Amino acid sequence: MVKIGVLALQGDYLEHYQVLKSLGGVDPVIVKHSKELSDIDALIIPGGESTTIGSLIESRMLSKPLVEFMETGKPVLGTCAGAILLAKEVVDRVVGETKQYTLRAMNIRIMRNAYGRQRESFIATVNIEDIGEVRAAFIRAPIILEAREPARITGYLNDSSLGRHGVAAREKNLYAVTFHPEITGDIRLYNYIIQQAKR
Ligand code: GLN
Repeated sequence: MVKIGVLALQGDYLEHYQVLKSLGGVDPVIVKHSKELSDIDALIIPGGESTTIGSLIESRMLSKPLVEFMETGKPVLGTCAGAILLAKEVVDRVVGETKQYTLRAMNIRIMRNAYGRQRESFIATVNIEDIGEVRAAFIRAPIILEAREPARITGYLNDSSLGRHGVAAREKNLYAVTFHPEITGDIRLYNYIIQQAKR
């Protein structure tokens, strides 16, 4: 059984847990403390509110254990707020540069709440390298504006009215997606992370 942890401080962690549970061959693990990190093969950082999850990471002293986990080379997937928490640079669509806490693990620049009020949430098909087309739910989603080596953008949303935006990025064992895979029930991204965890 491959053990996939879900960081369970705030946000959509139960939804991820349930999708993982339904897959078979996967043992989902709720991660609230650093000790749970020692026993998992991969970690998902869920969507939610990145400033809240960030302050909980800090107040529960999970920063160093999470960075150490990423350094083991095991896969880490950050979805939506989780992608923001992996980024080195965050800007907010309205207030511009933000000094909010992140793990600063991926060399990407990401814009919070990037689609604005008009398109607070929508579902679209996006194309992701090594995975293909994925049905993706965007909820007050960020946009990956830029990736610098060794990070690169691996997926785009191509929409006639919204334009073309970075929605997925990878840096070695770290994966960021700006959408919620747990909402559309599209399991291809999960299967991909599970395959990476088994390597
Ligand atoms: N806008 C949220 C943030 O900045 C992210 C939204 C989400 O995870 N669905 O944290």
